[in-house]
Amino acid sequence: MKIAIIGAGVAGLGAAADLKGKGHDVRLFDKGRGAGGRLSTRRASSPVGELRFDHGAQFFTARDEGFRRLIERLETGGHVARWSPRGAEIAPGPDGWTTTMTTPEAADVWYVGAPSMNSIVKAMASGFDISWGERAVEIERRADGSHVRFDNAGRQGPFDAVILAIPAEQAGELLEDISPALADEAKAATTAPCWAVMLAFAAPLETGWEAARINKAPLSWAACNASKPGRSGAQTWVLHASPEWTREHVDMDKEDVAAALTDVFCEMTGAPRPVYLAAHRWLYAKTDVSAGSPFGWDDTRKIGVIGDWRIAPRVEAAWQSGHALATFLAD
Ligand SMILES: Cc1cc2nc3c(=O)[nH]c(=O)nc-3n(C[C@H](O)[C@H](O)[C@H](O)COP(=O)(O)OP(=O)(O)OC[C@H]3O[C@@H](n4cnc5c(N)ncnc54)[C@H](O)[C@@H]3O)c2cc1C
Repeated sequence: MKIAIIGAGVAGLGAAADLKGKGHDVRLFDKGRGAGGRLSTRRASSPVGELRFDHGAQFFTARDEGFRRLIERLETGGHVARWSPRGAEIAPGPDGWTTTMTTPEAADVWYVGAPSMNSIVKAMASGFDISWGERAVEIERRADGSHVRFDNAGRQGPFDAVILAIPAEQAGELLEDISPALADEAKAATTAPCWAVMLAFAAPLETGWEAARINKAPLSWAACNASKPGRSGAQTWVLHASPEWTREHVDMDKEDVAAALTDVFCEMTGAPRPVYLAAHRWLYAKTDVSAGSPFGWDDTRKIGVIGDWRIAPRVEAAWQSGHALATFLAD
């Protein structure tokens, strides 16, 4: 079959590898400028040199056997590494912030892309025909197969099947006119937004921990990006706002968000002012209501739907979703 996959994140690329392995002719399209999706890495210039931030997913687990095999291969190739930060739980208390050191669950190895988070997606993308900077805006079923219209490349096709590997909200919009049942499934799933803040300091901070979950505060996560394996240069930090704070401030200016969340971090850790700060809004970050089945398939129109939102807000779940649809199509 000639198959178009819209979205070259972990779900789309995982499905693409399986389908190519079964002899299908796969073409991928992604609106991003390069490999990453929610495993993107942001580059920036600062007074302390060139900086890189993993501002989306922070780490991932590999409990599924098939996903673990892929990750082990990527680890052998140097695209993935293990991260063992000193962990902490932090919460505000009556006398200031309380910090409790934590140890990760023994069963859970934390993996990251190396030397940056998008390395895993770059490695998965190699060998595929991918058109970057192409946003799909319409799917049309004609007598000769499916055609997809992109905002730059125009109409592409015919394809025997089209697979959407994009967040639920974006899939819902694209499916509305072509597959109402799949559109309804996508619209029933929801994804929480997340403000991310990227910081660099003139000198390393002495916090005693490198990854903290934060409770009852505007921040839910803070990590020393520079403590991940293979990172070099100035000490960089990534902060994530809680879903509640993000929803309340979803339309706030980036600069105001960066300043507000940096204030919380500096108060919490005693850090001096950073020499670099910037904010990024993930409008669709982590699924909070999932579809509850690993993939969707419309057999009349030959459209498949995959992504983390089918299962859970995890890198591993995105791969499992793509793998499940590819296995179904191969049988
Ligand atoms: C702030 C944040 C923190 C996270 N933390 C973790 C964590 O610690 N651990 C963990 O396991 N997971 C975490 N996640 C979730 C994890 O990143 C996702 O579960 C996973 O990356 C989803 O992969 P995907 O392939 O389904 O989607 P994506 O990675 O979003 O890929 C979808 C792709 O589709 C493209 N696209 C969208 N619409 C269109 C269109 N119309 N046309 C063409 N292309 C389109 C996008 O450009 C994107 O590249 C986090 C995510 C965020 C944002």
